[in-house]
Amino acid sequence: MQKGKINVTGEDIFPIIKKFLYSDHEIFLRELVSNAVDATQKLKILASKGEFKNELGNLTIRIKTDKKAKTLTISDAGIGMNAKEIDKYINQIAFSGAEDFMKKYKDDANAIIGHFGLGFYSSFMVADRVEIVSKSYKDDKSAVKWECDGSPNFNLEETEKEKRGTDIILHMDKDSENFLEDSKIEELLNKYCKFLPVEIAFGKEKEYKDDKQVETDKDHIINNTQPAWTKKPADLKDEDYNSFYKELYPASFEEPLFHIHLNVDFPFNLTGILYFPKFKNTIEIQKNKIQLYQRQVFVTDSVEGIVPEFLTLLHGVLDSPDIPLNVSRSYLQSDKNVKKISNHITKKVADRLKEIFTNERENFEKKWNDLRIFIEYGMLSDEKFYEKAVNFFLLQNTEGKFFTFDEYKKLTEPNQTDKDKNLIYLYTTDPEEQYSFIEEAKEKGYDVLVMNGQLDAHFINQVETKLSGIRFTRVDADIIDKLIQKDENFESKLTKEDEENLSMVFQSQLPNDSTFLVSFEAMRETANPTLVTQNEFMRRMKDMSKFGGEASYYGLLPDSFNLIVNSNHKLVLNLNEKLLKTKAKDLKLLNENKVEINTEIDALNTLQKDKKEEEIPQEEKDKREELNKKLQEVEDKKRDVLTKFGNKQKLVKQLIDLGLLANNMLKGESLSNFVKRSVELIER
Ligand code: ADP
Repeated sequence: MQKGKINVTGEDIFPIIKKFLYSDHEIFLRELVSNAVDATQKLKILASKGEFKNELGNLTIRIKTDKKAKTLTISDAGIGMNAKEIDKYINQIAFSGAEDFMKKYKDDANAIIGHFGLGFYSSFMVADRVEIVSKSYKDDKSAVKWECDGSPNFNLEETEKEKRGTDIILHMDKDSENFLEDSKIEELLNKYCKFLPVEIAFGKEKEYKDDKQVETDKDHIINNTQPAWTKKPADLKDEDYNSFYKELYPASFEEPLFHIHLNVDFPFNLTGILYFPKFKNTIEIQKNKIQLYQRQVFVTDSVEGIVPEFLTLLHGVLDSPDIPLNVSRSYLQSDKNVKKISNHITKKVADRLKEIFTNERENFEKKWNDLRIFIEYGMLSDEKFYEKAVNFFLLQNTEGKFFTFDEYKKLTEPNQTDKDKNLIYLYTTDPEEQYSFIEEAKEKGYDVLVMNGQLDAHFINQVETKLSGIRFTRVDADIIDKLIQKDENFESKLTKEDEENLSMVFQSQLPNDSTFLVSFEAMRETANPTLVTQNEFMRRMKDMSKFGGEASYYGLLPDSFNLIVNSNHKLVLNLNEKLLKTKAKDLKLLNENKVEINTEIDALNTLQKDKKEEEIPQEEKDKREELNKKLQEVEDKKRDVLTKFGNKQKLVKQLIDLGLLANNMLKGESLSNFVKRSVELIER
C-alpha cells in the first residue's frame, strides 16, 4: 500500500473547497458523470482506431445510492486508471494563487472548478471520504483503490475489481445526506445529464402489477443520448422538432411557431435549436428558457450575456465548447468569441424570419400576432436586427390586412400625404373605442392601422426617427380635416363674437373631472357637430410613461381633451340663432359696456406707456384697478347670462355628450342622463 500526500502547488485545497464553495454544491454530480462519460468516449475512440481490441460490452454508466452505508456511487466501464495514472491525474494539482481567486468567485463554483480543473475534487463539497476503485483497459489483472478523507493525505492500494472501468464512491457528509434521496438524484440527473451521449442508468424501470408499483429488471435510463440538435437538419422532420420541444419543456402544451437549427463549425463551434414560442402580450415573464450545454452537458439556463437580451425570449438549446463558462458574467460580455457567437445567432434569427416571410408569407401572416412583440423588442434593442427586420415587419390595418413598410407607403402615399409632404400613418389603439373616428377616416379614403401592443408606443417613436417623412397620428387626435392637413379650407358661418359666446355656453356645461378646452372649427356641414380629441403628443407621452423612464413625468398630469365644435353644423347654427334671439339685448348691452371700459383702459395705458411703475401717480393706479374690476364684473355677468342660457338648452349637453359618446367617454350616470334626455328631445 502506498501512502502519500496529494501534491498541491500552493495551498491546501480542501479547507478552501469546503469553505468557499457553499453554493452550487449539486454540480459535483455533473462533474463526476461527465468524467465517466469522457472515460467511456475515450474507450470508444480507442476501439474505433483498433487500439482496443477486446469486447466493449455494456457501456452504461450507473448511479447508485445506498442510504444505509450513506454512499453514492458512480460507475463507468470506460478506460479506467492504473496506479500510475491515478498518481498523475488525481494526485497532482496545480493550485497556486488560489486564495485570491476563490474569494473573488466564492459564489461561482463553476468558475472555480473550471479554472483549476477541479472536476473530480468537487466531490469533497458533499463527501467527507471519497474512494476511487479503478481497473484500466490496459490491465486485466490488477485494480487499484485510492482513498482520501479530505485531508491532503491519500492511500493507494491494490484491490479486486471484476470489470474494467471506474467506480467513484462518495461517503456523504452529514450536511449532504439529501443527496442520498432518489428523488434528489433523479432531479439532478434530469437537470444536468438529460442529453449526455452515453446511457446513464439510475435504478430500474417500474411498472404496475396488481395495482402495485413493482421494479422490472430493465434499467431506468434517464438520458436521450442523441438529442435532436446533434443530428443533421436534413434528417429531421417538423414532427421531430416539435417532439424535441416537448422533451425540453414537458410542461408546455403549446407548439412552437417556428424553429431554427444552428450548425456552425467555423470560426467557432455552435450547434443548437432555437424555437419561437407563441409570445404573450407581455415580455417580462417569458425569459430564461434557453438551455446552454457544453458537449451535451447542461451548464445553465440563464443565457444573458451570451445572446442579446431580446433573444432570451426564445426557447431551445445552444451547445458550444467555445463559450467560456468558467468565467464571470461580466467577463462573458466582453469576450470576443461570445460576441461573435451572439452576432451570429442574431443574424441567423433574422435570416430565418426573412426566409419564412419570403417563402411562406401566408403562414408568416397567420403567426404574426404571436411573433410581433418579439420582433418589436428586437428592433427596439438591437440595431443590426432592426436593419434586417424592417424589411419584413408587418403593419396590420383595421381590416386585418398586412403590409410591409414599403407596401404601406405605396398604398397611402397618394391620399395621406399632407401639405408639408409628410406621409401620415393613422392608427388606432382600440378599434372598438375609436370606432367613429376610424369610420370617419375611412370615409375620407384613409387607411387606419391597429397599433395596440405593449411596445407599440415606443416602436412608433423609433420608426418615426428612422424612416424620414413618416408621422404616426392616432385617429382620434384631431378632427378629420386636420388629422392630415391639406390645403382645402372651409369658411365659418359664425362670427368671432358668436364663437366666443357659444364657447362660454359649452364651457359651462362640460363635465368638470377632466380638463377640456373648447374650440370652434369650420368643417363640412355633414361632419359631426362636436368631437372630443386628445393631443397626440400628450397622449403618446402618457402611454409611454406607463413603462417608466424619461416619460414618467407625463403620467402625473391630468388627462386633457379638446371639445371641438363644428361651426358650420346646422344644430350649432340653430343654437346660435336661439342665443341671439333670447339674449341679444343683454349681450349687446354687456358688450357695449365692455367696449367702453376697454376704451378707458386703452386711454390710461397710452398715458402710462413710457412711465415706470413708481412714476405713475396713485390716483391713476387706483383708476386702473377700478377699471379692471369693472371689466371682470362685466365678464362675470356675461358668463352668468351664457351659463343660464346653457342650463336651459338641453341641446348643449346633448351635443357635448354625443362627442363624448363617440369617444367612449360617456359612462355611468352621465350615460343614463344622456339616454333620458334623448327620449325627451325626441318626444318634443
Ligand atoms: P478534468 O476532468 O477537468 O481533467 P478532473 O479532476 O475531473 O479534471 O479529472 C482529472 C483526470 O482524472 C481526468 O482528466 C481523467 O484523466 C481522470 N479521471 C477522472 N475521472 C475518471 C474516470 N471516471 N475514468 C477515467 N479517468 C478519470
